[in-house]
Amino acid sequence: MAHWFDLGDVAVVPLIEDDRLLIEPGEFFPGLEPDLADWYAREPWFDRETGKLVFVIQSFLVCSADEVLVVDACVGAGKDRRRAEFDQLPDRWLRQFRATGVRDVDAVVFTHLHADHVGAVTVGADPVFPHAPHLVVEEEFRYWSSEAGAAAMRRTGDYLADSVRPIERAGQLSFVAPDAVVGKHAELVPAAGHTPGNVCVRVRGSAGTVLLAGDTMHHGVQVRHPELSTRYCVDPGKAAEVRSRILEEAGDSVLLPTHFPAPSAGRARRGSDGYVFEFAADLIRAGQFRYREWLA
Ligand SMILES: [Zn+2]
Repeated sequence: MAHWFDLGDVAVVPLIEDDRLLIEPGEFFPGLEPDLADWYAREPWFDRETGKLVFVIQSFLVCSADEVLVVDACVGAGKDRRRAEFDQLPDRWLRQFRATGVRDVDAVVFTHLHADHVGAVTVGADPVFPHAPHLVVEEEFRYWSSEAGAAAMRRTGDYLADSVRPIERAGQLSFVAPDAVVGKHAELVPAAGHTPGNVCVRVRGSAGTVLLAGDTMHHGVQVRHPELSTRYCVDPGKAAEVRSRILEEAGDSVLLPTHFPAPSAGRARRGSDGYVFEFAADLIRAGQFRYREWLA
């Protein structure tokens, strides 16, 4: 069932490439043995039959009457990737984008340059949005262009070469500060740790604010245990600090981490036993988002 988030004069629309990617807990969080009595070890977070964590691969459109932003771009279609679930995908992302009725976008924002956040901006070597600037923090781009970044890419497939370099060659890659204002309703929030130039995107509408929290947290188990970073975090200690800070400062505002299972958006409530995550039913609207109808 399609859904989107209603912030009044702004709509946040998920473009979901994979709605149920199952991964062994230990692959993502080395040594983790989920506590089956805890909330994160139940649906929609955890698949009891296989004992695997549930993830979603998605990105977001931020739509207003003034502009449309794309925040991240999933794995993308037809890419050579080591992980079987990412390899040579059909064009699920573009089909979902087209279903919104949005024709062109004003900017693409990358929270960071991991394989599951950049792929759909190119088809073959061609930019999908040839008129839009693609915004990234310079430190992030420099890291993945370095030898350390290249070494990490050997386990994923070289997504910099097939998805980011074509944007750079087309003159469409723009470096921004980690706290830059990136749209009339959107600003970056520094969150380095998961990767060196990692950011979140705060989206403000007339009826609510959402923090697109990117990969500062991947799964509910990290809401329950903020100290737990993934195997793929470049600086696990810093990633844990950032996660704790976001949870502490969030208060009543809504977090929308990229890989949380649908509907993904919610509030972290502090209980006697640590945080729980409550999905934000008040902002969720069921059905296919259609831009023209929404504007009218
Ligand atoms: Zn990711």
